[in-house]
Amino acid sequence: MTEHWRDVAHVGHAELLTPAPEASLEYFTTLLGLTVAAEGDGSWYLRGYGDYEPYSLKLTASSRAGLGHLAVRTWSPEALDRRVAWLVAAGIPGRWTEPDGGKGPAYEFRDPDGHPVRIYYETTKYAPPAGQRPAMKSNHQRYAGRGANVRRLEHVNLMARDVRACREFWADGFGLRTFEIIRRGDGSEDGAWLSSTVQGHEVIYVRDHLGGVGRLHHLAFWVDSREDVLRAADLMNDAGVPIEAGPSRHIPIQGFYLYTREPGGNRIEICSGGYLGFDPDDEPVVWTPAEYAAKPGWGARLPATFRTYGTPPTGAPEETETSDWPAALSRSPPGAFKPFGSRGEFVPTLSRGSIEMPGQAGLTGSVKITIAGSGAMGCRFGAALFAAGHEVLLLDGWAEHVAAINADGLRVTDETGTRVLPVPAALLPAADHPADGSPADGFSAADQPDLVIVFTKATATAAVAAAAAGAIGPDTLVLTLQNGLDNIEALLAHVPAARLLAGTTTLATELVGPGHIRALGSGDTAFGPVPGEASAGEASAGGPGAEGTERVRAALSGAGLSVRVAPNALELVWAKVAFNCVMNTLCSIASIPVSALARYDGFDPLASSILDEIAAVARAEGVTVDTAAALATMKAQFDPSASGSHLASMLQDLMNSRRTEIAHLNGAVAARAARHGLAAPANTLIARLIGLLEATWPDRVNALPAD
Ligand code: NAD
Repeated sequence: MTEHWRDVAHVGHAELLTPAPEASLEYFTTLLGLTVAAEGDGSWYLRGYGDYEPYSLKLTASSRAGLGHLAVRTWSPEALDRRVAWLVAAGIPGRWTEPDGGKGPAYEFRDPDGHPVRIYYETTKYAPPAGQRPAMKSNHQRYAGRGANVRRLEHVNLMARDVRACREFWADGFGLRTFEIIRRGDGSEDGAWLSSTVQGHEVIYVRDHLGGVGRLHHLAFWVDSREDVLRAADLMNDAGVPIEAGPSRHIPIQGFYLYTREPGGNRIEICSGGYLGFDPDDEPVVWTPAEYAAKPGWGARLPATFRTYGTPPTGAPEETETSDWPAALSRSPPGAFKPFGSRGEFVPTLSRGSIEMPGQAGLTGSVKITIAGSGAMGCRFGAALFAAGHEVLLLDGWAEHVAAINADGLRVTDETGTRVLPVPAALLPAADHPADGSPADGFSAADQPDLVIVFTKATATAAVAAAAAGAIGPDTLVLTLQNGLDNIEALLAHVPAARLLAGTTTLATELVGPGHIRALGSGDTAFGPVPGEASAGEASAGGPGAEGTERVRAALSGAGLSVRVAPNALELVWAKVAFNCVMNTLCSIASIPVSALARYDGFDPLASSILDEIAAVARAEGVTVDTAAALATMKAQFDPSASGSHLASMLQDLMNSRRTEIAHLNGAVAARAARHGLAAPANTLIARLIGLLEATWPDRVNALPAD
């Protein structure tokens, strides 16, 4: 174990930049309860009533939001000299700055991500003005009792492109102790919690997922109890200040939190609780991303913006586009949001009514999502949801694919390039080794997500549902957007209709190789409730109700997907089945791109012979298939500028010697027709022809013999 040495005493203050200085000042004085100790040169020096120094927040008018600098105080002048000597020896540029607001001189340098940091020893002890002295000489100022009544600056959370480098910089150069780390399989870190005292965090680094430079995640101010955090939430709420997250409890350090943004756009936390670390030879707690995503312990999930938003903002859409954060605020430029009147009274100009609240209660926080079957489509949805800040776990039976994702991240290529996302993945028994129905990989209640999205081929739905059954908890919703019939029935063996959603998507995606997908263009996704058994056909009898459905819609929509909710899942599924039973199969049999169908005059009667049988079987099951609309949708695809030149996925499956989904398309139609006493010769024949192609494709002749 390395010996701990202590040159840094504590975090002294932070300078916060604000483009809305007057409104920011009102937020900090009226709502947080800080006192202005001094002002000048466009800055205010603000103190909590527990600060022994003159200030712990320097608020400075600026053209942008963010961190001006972070300052730490050393134990002695000698300790300051030692730390500066270390910086100089390490070749880190720096300079001495003049005393500022009664602190310093300070030596200013930058951390590895470019955040300005000052280190100082000389300071002034706060002396309250005459007539303002506290009763007890152990206090530094009279009890403020204003607003949230924060006592002091508690910690500073910085975003960084290389969290590990920043953590090691503070540990090696300044002796800060690491309490907790989120560390990936490749050794890089998503978060690190450091402190020079027994308090679990003074300096925090979190990964800047948008690659910003020197950004601030938040400043946190301490109140004495969890009840005070709840009280602060009431205050913010009544002042019309939207609450981004909380009140709730964090995983790291277990702090109890409330997050709002001050009018300049900087995120501010009011916190209490959390553990203290006294053990001198304690090792840091290291979480894997999957352990962290599993959210051990109680507490709400953080909203998508918590991963992406920082100051100054990068301007990336994912920083503000989220379904779980008031849209009006997300779009507000800094300073546009002014909750108070000019004299400091509470004037809630941004009332609830003026904010488009998404959906209803229960939508806040990220959704915990497991993708069961993470091939092309599962990874596409998983990547989008992960990037939007949801807790995503990819399950798949292909060991090489899972290993590649965990080792190098999920690679997603689209027309803009390739992004690598650190989505955690885990192995499930593969389709050819179906599970016996017992929970695979030891799912525990903590692993059970809010939502499971099933995305295998229809041929593997029963197997993956059995293998992942342990992940489906008593409150878990299940969504299938797979093609074909029988998926719903297979899933109903593991989840009641009341928690099952089904639908379709026109997004197209290819699996390039292990850990790598190619997302092709855009598309629409629609889903809805599955009618309950007792009253098949009545949508209201099934599905998770409006709240659960909206929660899923909001998560998908917030992840940038074009999504709508339909009243009945079966109508969506059958409409897509009708489309695939004609287009996929005919293009495969003829071995042509979609657009070539336009040149065949006999398309309408051929397609109708298949469609009419499908409509009859669907009708027998209480579902209407509009054959005229289906035909029109198909013909719209003939246009090469639509998907006309694409090869049908079934044809691609044949060309790649993969099993097709025919048994769940025309094959399932034929089987269901037989059960209903209906004739389905066209679908039976089509299913057999595709079966013939599956069996003989390698012997296919594509050219005349040479002689
Ligand atoms: P895919 O073959 O790329 O992915 C399926 C994944 O499921 C694979 O990674 C496979 O390893 C895994 N799997 C199979 N059996 C398993 C088991 N028992 N346990 C765990 N994992 C298992 O398929 P895809 O293209 O993503 O298609 C998924 C569904 O979405 C299909 O119903 C398809 O028709 C439909 N769909 C696909 C597209 C597309 O463009 N790819 C578009 C719309 C709809």
